[in-house]
Amino acid sequence: MSLAVLSVASEAVPLVKTGGLADVAGALPGAVAPHGVAMTTLLPGYPSVLKGIGKARALHQWDALLGEPARLLAASLSGHPLLVLDAPALFGREGGPYGDPRGKDWADNWRRFAALGRAAADLVGGAVKGREFDVLHAHDWQAALAIGYQRFAPVPGGKSVPTVITIHNMAFQGVFPAEVFPQLGLPRAAWSIDGVESYGGVGFLKTGLQSASMITTVSPTYAAEIRSPEFGMGLDGLIVSRGDRVMGILNGIDTTEWNPAADPALAQAFTARSLARRKANKRALESEFGLASDDGPLFVVISRLTWQKGMDVLPEVLDHLVGNGARLALLGSGDAAIEAAFHAGAARHPGRIGLRFGYDEALSHLMQGGGDAILIPSRFEPCGLTQLYGLAYGCVPVVARTGGLADTVIDANVAALDAGAATGIQFSGVDYAGLAGAIGRTVALYRQGKAWRRIQQSGMAADFSWATSGKVYADLYARLVAEVR
Ligand code: ADP
Repeated sequence: MSLAVLSVASEAVPLVKTGGLADVAGALPGAVAPHGVAMTTLLPGYPSVLKGIGKARALHQWDALLGEPARLLAASLSGHPLLVLDAPALFGREGGPYGDPRGKDWADNWRRFAALGRAAADLVGGAVKGREFDVLHAHDWQAALAIGYQRFAPVPGGKSVPTVITIHNMAFQGVFPAEVFPQLGLPRAAWSIDGVESYGGVGFLKTGLQSASMITTVSPTYAAEIRSPEFGMGLDGLIVSRGDRVMGILNGIDTTEWNPAADPALAQAFTARSLARRKANKRALESEFGLASDDGPLFVVISRLTWQKGMDVLPEVLDHLVGNGARLALLGSGDAAIEAAFHAGAARHPGRIGLRFGYDEALSHLMQGGGDAILIPSRFEPCGLTQLYGLAYGCVPVVARTGGLADTVIDANVAALDAGAATGIQFSGVDYAGLAGAIGRTVALYRQGKAWRRIQQSGMAADFSWATSGKVYADLYARLVAEVR
């Protein structure tokens, strides 16, 4: 039997990406396909998406979707069905998916993503002939209202399907002033603690969490962490109240995109058996970042420059890192104050600290293939992908012990080293002492040569492909469908 699932997301590779959500939404259709799931993805029609899909057929149109004309275009996403919500008044703007070119959130984000949710609810309700679905899978707050619309304002006489919501990051909840409620096209009954109301405002993510058949998040440890106030960020009580309807499913990585044996972004391809070839990538990286060339440890960072990622603390540790004979190449974008702090550090250590601000997919691959260790000092990390890419590329992850980082990296403690199981370094405390200690441990291990290579090889042997998690999602959809039959 084949199940038809509509996956609704605000970004997906290769069409639009600001973070890990795009990697996951882009890979999921291929991950579940071998397990009898035909997944269609629904994306907003940002300029990059419309350009990426080229000429597309219109399947459906709305005269007024949240007040604006819109069309549904049929296209494909890496060989899987894609539907694009083309609503120029909502999505036809230059800038990012969520904000203007300077990074300020669009004031009408509530309307933009309510429209995405309404379109999804219409689709699963059967509004478009020939496109029928068994399950609705919404990702993050931007897609969450789909679940609220199906529950409170379904297509009249339409079908109602089981729903899954995946939390990729609890820090982004899509909360808007109560004044937008009357414009959402929801009945008064939806304005309640059991519906969209969240601490006096309209909570998009909260609505989805309240009403979904199943809540998933992207690692088992994060699924446990969001039950506490520190990680639940106001929704911990709701998560606890949903009991066993909350589960963690680890993200996989796309092993065709991220394969060091055949990666066009590398200066030299390599495998676990030819690690010496990484050196050509290290040299290429040094020259990209204007770093002095030597065989000492080269740390890399590929990250949003935010408090979540611990990027406010890292600049404080640069003197220590350089003092240990290490160098750093950083690729990131985000907070201007954090950028300034890195600039100051780099000015103190010419040739030892290299910086690149902006977004560069190809360079991120070269960094994983040429760096010795990737530093990920996140305060919280629902899953994290850069440590998984690091593992696959022999770029040893040095991670804070939280969320998906704790679930995917095996710390090089004595027992794990003896057993040959270690794949990286974990540390506690995202502060000067925590980071400085982790950097010291990493440099010491790196200098041991043989033990270091063993850590690299164990990481490269670990399987973080979608094979396991693809089946877990497919089984989940099947279980939810069986529950309502
Ligand atoms: P998050 O989604 O919280 O930003 P993840 O680790 O889950 O963190 O995913 C981040 C993704 O974005 C990874 O694929 C990473 O390689 C990529 N990435 C982050 N910053 C940059 C950048 N400046 N340039 C290129 N890729 C980046």
